[in-house]
Amino acid sequence: MDLTIISTFRCNSRCQMCYIWQNPTDPKEEISLKTIDKLPDGFDNLNVSGGEPTLRKDLAEIIEIVHPKARITEISSNGQHPERLVPIIRRFPDVKVRFSLEGDEETNNRIRGERDGYRRKTEGLRMLREAGGTDLGYAVVIQDENVEQLLPLYEMATNEGFELATSALHNAWQFYKNDNYFYDRHSVAREVESLIEAMLSSWSIKKWFRAYLNLGLIEKILGHDRLIPCTAVKEFAFIDPWSDVWGCNVRTDLPMGNLEKQSWNEIMSSEAARQSAGKVRACKQNCWMVTTARTAIRSTLVPGAPKRGPAYWVVANKLRTFLGLGIPFHRYVDYGTIAESPRVNRSSFLGTKDKGKLLRGRDDPAKRYPLRVFQNQ
Ligand code: SF4
Repeated sequence: MDLTIISTFRCNSRCQMCYIWQNPTDPKEEISLKTIDKLPDGFDNLNVSGGEPTLRKDLAEIIEIVHPKARITEISSNGQHPERLVPIIRRFPDVKVRFSLEGDEETNNRIRGERDGYRRKTEGLRMLREAGGTDLGYAVVIQDENVEQLLPLYEMATNEGFELATSALHNAWQFYKNDNYFYDRHSVAREVESLIEAMLSSWSIKKWFRAYLNLGLIEKILGHDRLIPCTAVKEFAFIDPWSDVWGCNVRTDLPMGNLEKQSWNEIMSSEAARQSAGKVRACKQNCWMVTTARTAIRSTLVPGAPKRGPAYWVVANKLRTFLGLGIPFHRYVDYGTIAESPRVNRSSFLGTKDKGKLLRGRDDPAKRYPLRVFQNQ
């Protein structure tokens, strides 16, 4: 299974679509090395994220512990302190690193509230390549404010030999936000089509399957059902900074246990995990983030292989692209049905004085996630 360790809720970006930075954790309460060391071997993708993981002084030690436990170790970072990752990459060149990047300099810095973010992360990724990094790339959150830059961003990343991972606006306890709605679902979804076409024009099998993941994003953006049922609890889980293990990073009613107090096996075989798995089977939400989507398209029978449906879609549409026939999006996507959503403006925190404030006494999940309910349709 895949696992994400949300190592901290401290963050030095101030994004308009994620309010982690307004809800920082106290370093003293964040998951310890001893707790992380309790994880067993054998994970597929193990992602160390945040908040901003480079704000943890012991990030190198975390990677030292988790690297032998996973086929792929990943760090999701905002890229504002790339120099802190250089020693890690020198030691483990295969660690996958993704820097959040939302578009060109002006757009990225506005959306993420980062004064000099664009320069730091673009120069920083090159720095990691010089340090020997072999799996480097950017990650973009598609939203109305940057969707027109999606294709140029993909081309920029590809030209430099970097990957581009895509997600779209979501509501989730991990983001402390439940009012991320697209302003114009139709226009945003249509722009994603160009990225799918570009990915299928490439000669990278990885990119062809990313094209399928982006088809799932179109469904998410339009408010349709998920392309493939969710596999939370069984195939992926999240650990929050307080060592609580959750079926996913969206619903606060999918607890599985606490890694500081229990062993991993106790958590996975617990009544809480069993009940959460039942709720996942009945879940009607359409979250299509990298973790929730990547695991959903993976075969449960053949390790490393995709499910039949996505594989068929990829082969058929790669062939069509090769023959210059174009992708028949109307066959896959019902543009006639688009979910209604309220208009909730997002505004930039760039140049404002807004700051996160450490809240003390958050001794149970209800206090840590006061919004409780997070919806994605
Ligand atoms: S579909 Fe449901 S269970 Fe799966 S990640 Fe989304 S909210 Fe969680």
